[in-house]
Amino acid sequence: MPLKSCNRNCVYCQLGRTVPLTNDRREYVPATEVVAAVSQVSQAQRQDQIDWLTFLRSGEPTTHARLGWIISQVKRISPLPVAVITNGSLLYRPEVQEELLAADAVLPSLDAGTAALYRTINRPRPACTFERLVEGLIAFRRRFTDKLWIEVMLVKGFNDTEQALSDLAALLTRIGPEQVHISSPQRPPAEPWVEAPGPEDLARTAALLGGAARPVASLTGESDLSAYENVVEAIIAVLCPHPMTEEELMRTLNRWMPGQVARGLAQLSRDKRLQVVTRHGQRFWSSSGARYPGKPDRRGEAAQPGPPVTSVRRGVGPFAEVVNLEVCRLTQDVSAYRTAAAVQQARQRCTRAAPAAKAIRSRAADFPA
Ligand code: SF4
Repeated sequence: MPLKSCNRNCVYCQLGRTVPLTNDRREYVPATEVVAAVSQVSQAQRQDQIDWLTFLRSGEPTTHARLGWIISQVKRISPLPVAVITNGSLLYRPEVQEELLAADAVLPSLDAGTAALYRTINRPRPACTFERLVEGLIAFRRRFTDKLWIEVMLVKGFNDTEQALSDLAALLTRIGPEQVHISSPQRPPAEPWVEAPGPEDLARTAALLGGAARPVASLTGESDLSAYENVVEAIIAVLCPHPMTEEELMRTLNRWMPGQVARGLAQLSRDKRLQVVTRHGQRFWSSSGARYPGKPDRRGEAAQPGPPVTSVRRGVGPFAEVVNLEVCRLTQDVSAYRTAAAVQQARQRCTRAAPAAKAIRSRAADFPA
């Protein structure tokens, strides 16, 4: 299963940057396995211990080609209500609407009331336009008579201004959801500059957005880890969809002794399967495949982008210039870089190396062939 597949690259995404953006509807996880897992969990748990069966995926659930079939099967084997958390960008497609009609609650996200702000915060694939998003939400609301709860993620300085909230309020009035849930990023955002507004800002936003809006706490819930014998497997299962602070992780994995969890983290970090991401001074453990721009953390490696320049020969004197030339050559292939920041850094290195390259060319005879 890919770490994340999505048609957006939200600045606040806890799973890091989306690379590449995809709109393909595919069977990313075998549909039969999903239904079997739901069946197993609902048999193992007392029904009164579960409120909802929620589909959210590691990425956008409506890009799963058999979501409709999965929902219909789950409803056959369980009396529990089914919710789907979606970014709503494919709701303009009638077949996606049709599949979600079987759910009991649909929770699309909507962070902006204008196309410009939508592109700034959600950074969607070009095909996922703001006009299509709005068209899809309004069309789905007309067809879906059950619970339509819209999720708004507030990003400080972006969609929490008076103007942004007034635009959003006008759009929400056109859509007419039953409820509007307002939250703020609590886990490491993809971009290091994303800040979460305070609780008072969430309350002010709720007041500005009207009666259907209310602040909500981010999902915490307990994880059922009974299927895992091994602490290393449990750590991976927990962290893949939800980066966590070490304290949270210890709480979640309290079936094991803290020393066992610490040894598991150290092993996974050594094997480069986990990384530590630091955001605003807080450290989170995350899967190493997730892409967060920023400085590497000493414990675990942050996903620091860039080409393998460290493998280039290091040298002194004229050979230092050869290294610079090699850096210049590497920067030609920007696809080797995983983020815009890395490309920028490499370009700067290349620019710095340009005078050295010129000097070397003019003294080519001084160098062995
Ligand atoms: S927050 Fe959701 S919609 Fe945005 S990039 Fe992440 S998975 Fe996709």
